[in-house]
Amino acid sequence: MIKSKAYAAQNATSDLAPFEVHRRDPGADDVQIEIQYCGVCHSDLHTARGEWHNTIYPTVPGHEIVGRVVCVGEQVRNFKVGDLAGVGCMVDSCGHCYSCADGEEQYCENGFTGTYNGPVFGGENTYGGYSQTIVVKESFVLRIKHGEKDLASVAPLLCAGITTYSPLRHWGAGPGKKVGIVGLGGLGHMGVKIAHAMQAHVVLFTTSASKIADGKRLGADEVCVSTNREQMAAQANQFDFILNTVAASHNLDTYLQLLKRDGTMTLVGAPAEPHPSPGVFNLIFKRRQLAGSLIGGIRETQEMLDFCAQHEIVSDIEMIRMDYINTAYERMLKSDVKYRFVIDMASLG
Ligand code: NAP
Ligand code: ZN
Repeated sequence: MIKSKAYAAQNATSDLAPFEVHRRDPGADDVQIEIQYCGVCHSDLHTARGEWHNTIYPTVPGHEIVGRVVCVGEQVRNFKVGDLAGVGCMVDSCGHCYSCADGEEQYCENGFTGTYNGPVFGGENTYGGYSQTIVVKESFVLRIKHGEKDLASVAPLLCAGITTYSPLRHWGAGPGKKVGIVGLGGLGHMGVKIAHAMQAHVVLFTTSASKIADGKRLGADEVCVSTNREQMAAQANQFDFILNTVAASHNLDTYLQLLKRDGTMTLVGAPAEPHPSPGVFNLIFKRRQLAGSLIGGIRETQEMLDFCAQHEIVSDIEMIRMDYINTAYERMLKSDVKYRFVIDMASLG
């Protein structure tokens, strides 16, 4: 058994604080990674605070993990000691249902095992990346082709990157397509960069007028302040696809009416409180679709990492120490981060 320093929340109202986790000794098909950096996803906050009512405490969040391989089992073929490696939101799945067979392990019929908070249908807890080391089955470990100097900025690709890449690919973002990204946070800023690299015409919708210049710098062709009625009216009935990353309950009709006939808005934001039900006329009159999407499979996560390496895409980050995490959560709630906190695990000591 391997002991690892970590940070955990003991219940929904406690701050995160030092904790010790035990990792299994690497088995034949396991890879042990010394974690160098871990991104801070809004899902970490939802989980630490029990906002989805499914948290198993104590909880050690963190599913944007990058680091160096320090041990491999004898059957591991694709990683060796010293390699850079990443781990995202999943560490296992059943491996035999039709979704797993399709490489869509995130939709595993028997429930994938989250990097933290255990299997989705209940079971032994798992502990995430706010820790020094992790042991993961080789088939759930990702290869990193970016250079080592970018390592910290690559961490957020493991969740924010794949959660935006997968629906952008699935709904065909590309040349000649008008794509909206709603919310400029961790997910949203990756969505803008990736949709731009896919050569779509990208419009960012933000509630923060202060983010207009950043939106353009990150790759948006246009930026709309979503509280400005005139700016919103000018975008009506034009979008092929809208990716909604907002972490809070809001009126979806504001965006549905921007879709053209047969357009789709996909929700990836997962707020604690439900959105008000959208008006049906906004859907039926133009055969518009409202959809959802969950992260992405392992094969597609590798495809996304390779795409980002090829297009020189990384996350814009603010590096923090582990003991800053509770302040970071408060700042994330105020949309006060450009655009992802990443924890330097060396600060765990
Ligand atoms: P984040 O960094 O906090 O960004 C969320 C953004 O939403 C904010 O920056 C803000 O952008 C906007 N926003 C926040 N409150 C708002 C409000 N009341 N009204 C309108 N806009 C608001 O969060 P994140 O890490 O990107 O995560 C976003 C959501 O996706 C979370 O709910 C998270 O749990 C979820 N998530 C889902 C998946 C999945 O697989 N589906 C994966 C990862 C995360 P502006 O300032 O630009 O308006
Ligand atoms: Zn996440």
